[in-house]
Amino acid sequence: MTITNATFPVGAPGFSTHPIDRAAHLREDVDKLLALEDHSHARAYVVHRDSLLIRRNGGSPTALLTLEEARAYGANPGTVFLGLSDGKPVFGMGIAANSVEALLTHEEVAVNDLRGAITQGLLPVHELSTIAMAKALVGWHQRHGFCANCGQRSVMASGGWRRDCPNCKTQHFPRTDPVVIMLVTDGERCLLGRQSQFPAGMWSCLAGFVEIAETIEDAVRREVLEEAGIQCTDIAYYRAQPWPYPSSLMIGCTARATTTDIVVDKTELEDARWFDRAEAALMLKREHPDGKLGPHPVAIAYHLLAQWVNAAA
Ligand SMILES: [Zn+2]
Repeated sequence: MTITNATFPVGAPGFSTHPIDRAAHLREDVDKLLALEDHSHARAYVVHRDSLLIRRNGGSPTALLTLEEARAYGANPGTVFLGLSDGKPVFGMGIAANSVEALLTHEEVAVNDLRGAITQGLLPVHELSTIAMAKALVGWHQRHGFCANCGQRSVMASGGWRRDCPNCKTQHFPRTDPVVIMLVTDGERCLLGRQSQFPAGMWSCLAGFVEIAETIEDAVRREVLEEAGIQCTDIAYYRAQPWPYPSSLMIGCTARATTTDIVVDKTELEDARWFDRAEAALMLKREHPDGKLGPHPVAIAYHLLAQWVNAAA
């Protein structure tokens, strides 16, 4: 059974394809950035926590708003410069909670949860990488308004790619948190886990944050041992996926188990078990007789599993 997906082809998880030109050389040029905001083709994504403003435009919804529209809806005046898409400037903007409330009864614009908007197909796949940038970067500014060194309010700099402290002069950069996510296999079986907050019936790859002064390989070995009591080897990089919740980089890996007896860490996982290839295929296709499900195709976990299922097809 070959696994395919029309929206997220195997090997192309959400947020990871169609990167825009970041045009980083423009970030320090304040005059140029102001001119780009006034550009007739300038557009902005307006982000509120895990949601995005989406304008319903005669049946074709879009999250790319003109800056005038964004400000009229109550978006904060400050922008972050995301880059150039086909030469056209794209920005990210935040919006305060009271402005979002005022929009809830608005007919023209909706405040959509990003995950829901993706699963409903409201957003073009080629925009997801830029939307991830907007969400992660705008969210970082909202959570990091004060200098971690001296406590003074810091100010946005470099088109939004830095915050500077006017008091102690420390420069703060937006963080990306590395997470390893791995498909551990044992010949014809793979190891999947269930977290209690997963939707009913859903199983996925094990994952965990890379810790300070740890290699990717050591993080894979440690997480698999901690969560499932399985030892593994032959760790190989598959591909990565930006994951803007709030600003992770999922580092997809494969590994080969050298032990088979699972000991579940119940503080991390509800359960973990081995699945054979045929069962994994049914879960990805949402055809499992017991209603067991694999991860959603937007997530790299789906692709790790699908490439393993397809390798035997
Ligand atoms: Zn400071």
